[in-house]
Amino acid sequence: MKKITQLPVDPGPAAWNAILPPQKARAALDSHCTADWVVIGAGFAGLSAARRLAELHPADRIVVLDACRIAEGPSGRNSGFMIDVPHDLSSDDYGGNAGNDQRQIRLNRAAIDYALQAKAQWQMSDEAIAASGKLNGAVTARGVAHNQAYAKHLDQLNEPYERLDAQSMQEVTGTHAYAEGLYSPGTVMLQPALYTRILAAGIESSRLQIYESSPVVSLEKQGSLWLVNTPEGSVSAPGVILTVNGHLQSFGYYQRHLVHVFTYGSMTRALNEKEVSALGGKDNWALTPADPLGTTVRKISGTGGHRIIVRNRATYDPSLVVDERRIARVGQDHERSFAFRFPMLKDVSMQYRWGGRLCLSLNGVSVFGEIESHLYAACCQNGLGTAKGTIAGKLIAELASGESSALLNDQLADTGPKKLPPAPIAKIGASARLKWGEFRAGKEL
Ligand SMILES: Cc1cc2nc3c(=O)[nH]c(=O)nc-3n(C[C@H](O)[C@H](O)[C@H](O)COP(=O)(O)OP(=O)(O)OC[C@H]3O[C@@H](n4cnc5c(N)ncnc54)[C@H](O)[C@@H]3O)c2cc1C
Repeated sequence: MKKITQLPVDPGPAAWNAILPPQKARAALDSHCTADWVVIGAGFAGLSAARRLAELHPADRIVVLDACRIAEGPSGRNSGFMIDVPHDLSSDDYGGNAGNDQRQIRLNRAAIDYALQAKAQWQMSDEAIAASGKLNGAVTARGVAHNQAYAKHLDQLNEPYERLDAQSMQEVTGTHAYAEGLYSPGTVMLQPALYTRILAAGIESSRLQIYESSPVVSLEKQGSLWLVNTPEGSVSAPGVILTVNGHLQSFGYYQRHLVHVFTYGSMTRALNEKEVSALGGKDNWALTPADPLGTTVRKISGTGGHRIIVRNRATYDPSLVVDERRIARVGQDHERSFAFRFPMLKDVSMQYRWGGRLCLSLNGVSVFGEIESHLYAACCQNGLGTAKGTIAGKLIAELASGESSALLNDQLADTGPKKLPPAPIAKIGASARLKWGEFRAGKEL
């Protein structure tokens, strides 16, 4: 029997979920049942895997278990960028290769197609998901150089983009902070909690059940079946799919191969009419930083009113836990980033602050495949799980169902994560790298 060594803890509120009307809690698993498939984890990867299993096997019984509630875990606490082109193209010392980038673009675009199909199937609003593109904003000369490098690599990949000067950036964002921007049209923007909620409700049926607050505490092979135990119930099934991202290591797999990082967000209270007009710019926009370790910013106008969300800082936390003091400390960085960009909103405070887990690997690849007989994993999304989790979830369901395709071969080309150096060296190396990167980001942070 495999005992799960650690359960997920999500620090701070899931702001995107908190600004929506409350949702009715789903039941926790409280008895024994049988199923054809169990999916563990109900984030982007888990919901996508369950959705695909239901499409491929309409008569099968599928059980989805999550330790927390839908949209409360990392899938409901991210910045909502579903990005089509590789994210690291902007670095000066970019060492990728075009073949690998094209492969990643094919996978990301397949994820976006699958999410847009869900939009059509369950009549999601543009607030939940919209093909709006995104800006890469540069504050400093160094940021502008990053955008230049980014543009060069997009040219090599034959991908479209548009460069924006400071005035055009101000017309979109309302702030004078940005010297330059690069607009790329292929990114799809999510209200991650709204999207995740509608997707979860859409896939549920008499054959597919989602249990919330149902952490898996042990996993056991019994003959040809897996027995999956939660504190108050259990499910036995021939096939199990693990979509728990970095918590894969808590299941005893890929220990010392996964890099656990937390990143942090803050969301303002709703702006009043006066503040909205003092800010100016468009109702909705989405900006990633030209320097990868800078500040991501979004302006949203929807169910929770007009708000601004900032995300920055990344910390290496192999313990998979951060405390409230960290959230408060990082909150001060958010205050600085916000005040620098939005001096016209000096009376606007942050209503929510939170953190969330990312799982990376040293060589930037995912864990994807059959890790034991009829036990499959689609984990380690390398920080871009809205797209990577969605497609890995869809494809793991196809792999487990014996399907084959060129896209599945693209995903299978990930060779598996490299082993980390001994713990103290990994800790010093990763923390120093993040701190140095953030220092160099300067005003981009
Ligand atoms: C502040 C922030 C901003 C981000 N911005 C972006 C962005 O703009 N774009 C982007 O692509 N990515 C972004 N990310 C990353 C993104 O959120 C993740 O990559 C994504 O959520 C991974 O999806 P997943 O389904 O693989 O895993 P998760 O969303 O982590 O889902 C895994 C689920 O497994 C559950 N679980 C774990 N252990 C157990 C257990 N024992 N039993 C039952 N359930 C268990 C967890 O509760 C969780 O709900 C951001 C993350 C943060 C924190």
